[in-house]
Parts: sequence; C-alpha cells; structure tokens
Amino acid sequence: AIDNQPMLTKEPGNFNQESLRQLFDLGEFELPALLRYANQIRKKQVGDEVHLRAIIEFSNYCSCHCLYCGLRAGNHKISRYRLTNQEIYQSVQTAVRYGLKTIVLQSGEDRFYQPYDIAHVIEFIKKHFDVAITLSLGEHPHQSYQIWLNAGADRYLLKHETADPILYQKIRPGKNLQDRINCLMDLKDLGYQIGSGNMVGLPGQTLTSLIDDVLLMKKLNVEMAGIGPFLPHPDTPLGCYSAGSLSQTLKILAITRIVLPTIHLPATTAISTVNDDARRLALGSGANVIMPNFTPLTVRDQYSIYPQKIDIIEDPKQSMNNLKKLLKEMNRTISMSYGHAVKIKKYS
Ligand code: SAM
Ligand code: SF4
Repeated sequence: AIDNQPMLTKEPGNFNQESLRQLFDLGEFELPALLRYANQIRKKQVGDEVHLRAIIEFSNYCSCHCLYCGLRAGNHKISRYRLTNQEIYQSVQTAVRYGLKTIVLQSGEDRFYQPYDIAHVIEFIKKHFDVAITLSLGEHPHQSYQIWLNAGADRYLLKHETADPILYQKIRPGKNLQDRINCLMDLKDLGYQIGSGNMVGLPGQTLTSLIDDVLLMKKLNVEMAGIGPFLPHPDTPLGCYSAGSLSQTLKILAITRIVLPTIHLPATTAISTVNDDARRLALGSGANVIMPNFTPLTVRDQYSIYPQKIDIIEDPKQSMNNLKKLLKEMNRTISMSYGHAVKIKKYS
C-alpha cells in the first residue's frame, strides 16, 4: 500500500506539512513498508556503503543550561574533564589505524578554549593524518567558524534540536531557534558541509513540529541529519519524562531519507542506546553513517549526555569488530572514502 502513496512520487522539493502528515500518520502495520521504501531510496541514491565517523568527545564542560542534557552547567554530579592535545592525537591515531577517514571533534560549549586553541588542534590533525574533520562545538561567533574553516575543518554538526521556537526556548533557556538557524546558514555560507537534526519525543513536542523538523532541514539544504530519540537523564530537569520511541524515530529517519534522498544519515548513538537491534533497524530504514566512539575509555562515562548502557561502552577493537560483523550480515560495505556530501543527483 505504501508504494501507492501519491506523496511518494513527489519531487522531494514538493513536500509540505500536508503531504508529510500522511506519512507521519501511517500506522504500525504500514511502518515496515515505509522503512523498506526509505531503504530502497538509500540504496539507489547513496549505495550500500556505510561511512564511519570517529567521534572524540574532548571536553564535557558546558556553559549552557539545556534542560535535557547531562552536561548542562548546573549538573554538579558529573566530573568534568578536558582531554590533553596529546590524548586527542592518540585517539585520532587509533581511529586512523582502524581505517576511519573522518574525525568528529565534539564538546560542550566550553569557554575555556580560545578559537585559536581549537584551530591548532585542527591544523595538527590535518597535517599529520589524512582525514576530514567535522566539528560539533555548539554556537560560536562567525569569526571562530572562519578561523576553524581556515585551519582545515570540513563540516559542522549543529542540531537545531526542535523546529518549534517556543519549545526550543523552554528547553534551551536563554537561547532561541533563530540564532541556531543563523549559525547553520552562516556555516553553510562559509563553505562548511552542515549537519543539523532533532530529538524525537521531547516533552511537549507536537506532530506538526516534528514535520517542521524535516521541512527545516530541507530548507537549510543540510548535508547530514543527526536524528535520535530524547533520552531522559535523571540529573536534569527533564529526567522524569519518558524517552522518545524507537518506532517514531525510525519513521522520521525514513521520512528524512525520502525528503532528502542524498543526505548522510547516521544511525545515531542515541538510537543504538535504545536496544541491541536499534542500530540494525536504523541502517535498514535509510541510515548510511555510523559514528564509533574513540573517546578514551578513562573518561567515556563522564560524557553522560544521557544515561549510557554499560555494554555500549566498548573499546575501539570490540566496537569495530561488532560493527564489521553487523555490516557483513546486512550486506553493507565500509566506505573507504572521506564520505563528503553527495552531490545532488537527479531524483528519479
Ligand atoms: N554542545 C554541542 C551542541 O549542543 O550542539 C555538542 C554536544 S551536545 C552533547 C550533542 C547533542 O546531544 C545535542 O545536539 C543533543 O541533540 C544531544 N543530546 C543532549 N541531551 C540529550 C538527551 N537527553 N537525549 C538525546 N539527545 C541528547
Ligand atoms: Fe551543552 Fe550541548 Fe549539552 Fe546543551 S546539548 S548542555 S550545549 S553539551
């Protein structure tokens, strides 16, 4: 029945609230067909390769107060760390030894670093390793984005979190959605490949705003979308709410693949946290990227955005072995390229 859905024959530019709502409204019996359809589009548009991005979480200090995140400034229960440059380079080296071609440097909004501190790390990595660099450091002035681009950064991941401006202001006190969007447009204008994305199942989130999330990413013409369920952290103001559902998250992944057919779509760590099979399901619903964690094990559990399952805290060897096994079972291959944004092919 899904294949007969008239909205699926649309040019991707023609999706709107109304046509997407028909996809969002599909019930649990139709969901598997929607996921399969997104999987076919993924295969046709970006192939069977899975891009691996090594994430290195180099600081868990943050000056922000996001109500959902365990790294928020007001959480005094976690111990804070900053990796030394030496530790960052060792983590990069480990990732490169495993064949990874993209390094994602992520942190809280840590005001300890001056823009040039980060630039030096980027320059050093670019000089000594053959990798692409994605930054995920939150909102910063134009000048800093420029300095990091000049230093060699290729991409920037800045999730818009929710396209509902009122909800956004509630869950990110002192911030507003338009500033976040301006940062994304600024990054794009500078020449970064940009990634955005949202959490699914936030308290107070409406269906309309979830559709707007997809439409906003379409409008911004993002090259990547990090979509994952909201996972409550007990030491945050949203700790008592329930987690976003896996099936809703998979549905949104699939819809994002349909609307943005050539996008890079990770099976995010948040999805993998939900259950043992979630990563496989995401890879079968449109996802084509995985972000293995190369943060040193000594501090890994302190980067507690949300509660982590002990068994996903694997060392690189275990994690890469499990990943290779999974991809083999799924007849998917590991990409040997940098995995830059796919140039838009004609959608047919
Ligand atoms: N500080 C940067 C920022 O906020 O963009 C990067 C690090 S932040 C920890 C990375 C992502 O974690 C955020 O974009 C947010 O979507 C996600 N995150 C934080 N708390 C979460 C939670 N409780 N459940 C799911 N995702 C969460
Ligand atoms: Fe800080 Fe990012 Fe967490 Fe917000 S989501 S508290 S900006 S680390």
